[in-house]
Amino acid sequence: MGLITKLFDKRAAPILVAFFVVLFVLEHKRKLRKTTQPLKKRIPTNAIVAIPAFALLRLLFLPLMVKLALKNKDYVFDRQLKIPLILRCVITFLIMDYGNYLWHVINHKIPLLWRFHLVHHTDLDLDTTTAFRFHFGEMIGSVFSRGLFVLLANASAKQVLYYEMLFEAATQFHHSNVKMPISIENLLNKLIVTPSMHGIHHSVNKDETNSNYSVIFSFWDRIHNTFNAKPRQKQIIIGVPEYRNATQMTPKYLLSIPFKKQINLNQ
Ligand SMILES: [Zn+2]
Repeated sequence: MGLITKLFDKRAAPILVAFFVVLFVLEHKRKLRKTTQPLKKRIPTNAIVAIPAFALLRLLFLPLMVKLALKNKDYVFDRQLKIPLILRCVITFLIMDYGNYLWHVINHKIPLLWRFHLVHHTDLDLDTTTAFRFHFGEMIGSVFSRGLFVLLANASAKQVLYYEMLFEAATQFHHSNVKMPISIENLLNKLIVTPSMHGIHHSVNKDETNSNYSVIFSFWDRIHNTFNAKPRQKQIIIGVPEYRNATQMTPKYLLSIPFKKQINLNQ
């Protein structure tokens, strides 16, 4: 598909790779949280888990989202109401981002979905590599939720791809272990999800896990009273209480978790 190659493969992918490298370097120079696991083990584990999810993103998810967007009606109302394109883009991104907030919440509330999403949460450290540690089953499930919001937002194909770029960049950023000056962190957090905010979501403490679900814009959590900014980052223990055996965390084991008897589904 021409548009995906032009906008995502050729334009977004190099920017996202460069952004990853910058965050990766920064998070090892200025650590927000202490790390507990050897990086040389976590990098290949997260990379192998990511391969099927990434293949599905590029070969199934993006083509389907673009196909759905191409079915959306032309902006008759926009032209009648003279809505500027930039405002239309903002409204579209907000609707799609709200959809991702809701999708993330239900991934924690519905036991079947949690089986897949917990693979992402089992990482015992949180950094840019965790941003890729998603089970391919979660990617398949997200097609329905995100597809619905592409239709509700009446998004164009270009908007779908630009939102995806922002989504991927935001996911890398808020999973990173970069320590920023507190004034900058607080300022950014008024609008977007920061590493500190998302770190709380990855805590083993269930009250903390059940907070801070937003993906790009942070205000969805404030609106829904799921915002939590209290815990000190250095005291946060990352992971899922029932899955803390580091030697067990092979890619094969992680990819098989959703299909095994669950240790605890009381999320
Ligand atoms: Zn989560």
